[in-house]
Amino acid sequence: MRRSALVVAVALAAAVAVLPGAASGQAPESFDVLIRGGRVLDGTGNPWFRADVGVRGDRIVAVGDLAGATATRDIDATGLVVTPGFIDTHSHAGGGLASPGLSHARPLLAQGVTTVFVNPDGGGALDIAEQRDALLADGLGVNVAQFVPHGSVRRAVLGMADRLAEPRELDEMRALVEAGMREGAWGLSSGPFYAPGSYSDTHELVELTRVVAPFGGAYQSHVRDESNYSIGVMAAVEEVVTVAREAGVPGVWTHAKALGPPVWGSSVSLIERLEEARADGIEMYTDQYPYPASATGLAAALLPRWAQAGGGDSLRARLQRSDDVERIRAGMIDNLARRGGADRIQFRRFREDPAIEGRTLAEVANERAMDPVDTAIELFRQGSPSIVSFNMHEDDVRLLMAQPFTMTASDGGLVPWLEGVPHPRSYGAFTRKIETYVNDMGVIDLETAVRSMTSLPARVYRMRDRGEVRVGAVADLAVFDPSRLHTGSSFTDPHHLSAGMRWVLVNGDVAIDDGAFTGVLAGRVLRKNRQES
Ligand SMILES: [Zn+2]
Repeated sequence: MRRSALVVAVALAAAVAVLPGAASGQAPESFDVLIRGGRVLDGTGNPWFRADVGVRGDRIVAVGDLAGATATRDIDATGLVVTPGFIDTHSHAGGGLASPGLSHARPLLAQGVTTVFVNPDGGGALDIAEQRDALLADGLGVNVAQFVPHGSVRRAVLGMADRLAEPRELDEMRALVEAGMREGAWGLSSGPFYAPGSYSDTHELVELTRVVAPFGGAYQSHVRDESNYSIGVMAAVEEVVTVAREAGVPGVWTHAKALGPPVWGSSVSLIERLEEARADGIEMYTDQYPYPASATGLAAALLPRWAQAGGGDSLRARLQRSDDVERIRAGMIDNLARRGGADRIQFRRFREDPAIEGRTLAEVANERAMDPVDTAIELFRQGSPSIVSFNMHEDDVRLLMAQPFTMTASDGGLVPWLEGVPHPRSYGAFTRKIETYVNDMGVIDLETAVRSMTSLPARVYRMRDRGEVRVGAVADLAVFDPSRLHTGSSFTDPHHLSAGMRWVLVNGDVAIDDGAFTGVLAGRVLRKNRQES
C-alpha cells in the first residue's frame, strides 16, 4: 500500500518535472500565450525573478525557462515586469459594468485591474443572480465578484425606518443574505455611516455576518464613523473587530482613513488596535485608495442622519419647516468643520445645476453671497450633489499604506466619459499608488504595492486561483514598465485613462496588446465556491 503510493508519487513528480521545459528529444512545448524574458513579481511580495510565463486556455501552465517553447502568441517582456492582474476590493463599477457602453471597463484595464469587488458600503444590488445576468448581458471587460450589501438588505425589509430590527425582520434579512451567498457572493458589505445602514446596531451586523461564515465569506465595512461624527473612528473600527470576532470571519475596515482635522494622526492608534486584534487571532485587514481626498454625497457629508430618516421626500419636507431647518443647520455647521471647511469640498456631479461641478462649496457660496451652510441647504432643496472631500492628512495615508494588512482599493466607479468631475481614483488609483507612492516618494516598494493589489486580497477573500503568478493560477496578468506608469487624471481634470500598461490578460485573453485595447470581453462573474473562481 505504502509502496504503491510512493511509486505514484515518484511518477507524478517526474511528470511535473518535464512539464515546464521542453526536454531534449521531445517536440517543443507550445502555449497559447508565452510571455518571455520579464521580471516576474509573483504577487506574494517576493522580489522579482526572471522567468517566462506560459499560458494555455485560461491558466498559467508554466513559469520558468521556456526558451525552446513555441506559442500562438509571443509577448516580449524584456525590461518589463510581469505581475498578477490587480484586484480592486472596493469598486462602485457594478452599475457601469452592467451598461452596454461601459462594460468594456477600459478605465480599469488601463490600470492593470482585472477583477473588481462590487456592491460595497452596504449599497448596490440586492438580487445577486439578477445582477450577474445584467453584468453578463453585454460581456465584461474585467472579472466581477459581488458582495451582499447590508444597506440594500435592510432597506428591503425595513425601508428607511430609523429603528432597530424586530426579531422577525432580522430573520427576513438573514434569509436575503443567505440567498445572496448561495448565488456566489463573497461576503457582506456594510456602510453603517450611511442611511439606512446607520439605523442598525452591532448586533444586527454580527447576526447577518454569521450567515456568510459557513460560505467562507468575509465582512467589509465602511465604518460607522471615520471621524468624530458620532461614536468616533476608534469605536467604529472596533465595531468591525467585534463583527469579525463574533462571526468568525475576516474583517475589513474598508478605505481606511482618519477623516478630518479633529482625528488626524489617529492612524497610529488604529493600526495598533488592528495589530492587537490580529495578535488575539482576529483576522483584521484594511484596504485603501491612495489619495488624501474622499468622495461621497453632500448629504452624507453634512446632514445629520436623523434629517434623512424616511428618505428624500421627508428631508425636503423638513427643509420646509423652520424649526427643523434650524436643527439641521446646527448639525451641518459641525459637520462642515469636521470636513475641514467649505474650500475642502468640491462638487463632482449635480444634474440639477451642472455649473457647480468641479468648483468648491466655498466658491459657489461666495458667488451667491451666501453662507456655505445655507448654500448647501439651497442645493438640498434642489437635489443631492455628489462631492470630493479633501479631508485626509498625508501622514495618515502613508502610514496606513505601509501596513502589511493593507490592500488596495479604488472606491471608484465607471463614469460615462466627460460626465461630471469625478474623483480621479476611478481612472488612476492603482497607477497612482505605484507612480506616486512607490516611484516618487518611496513610501513602499514595488513588491509590497503589487502584493497589496494581488495575493493579499485573494487571501482575504479566499479567492483560490487568482492573485499570483504560479502554475495552475488563472492567467490574469499585467505586463508593464513600472517607471512608465502615469495617471493623467487629476481632481480638476479627471477624465484621462492611465498610461503605461503594455499587456493585460484577463482569463488568458489579451485585453491590452502592446498598449492598445483589443476590445475582447474576457471577464467573468466570479462565484464563490464555484469551479471557475
Ligand atoms: Zn465607502
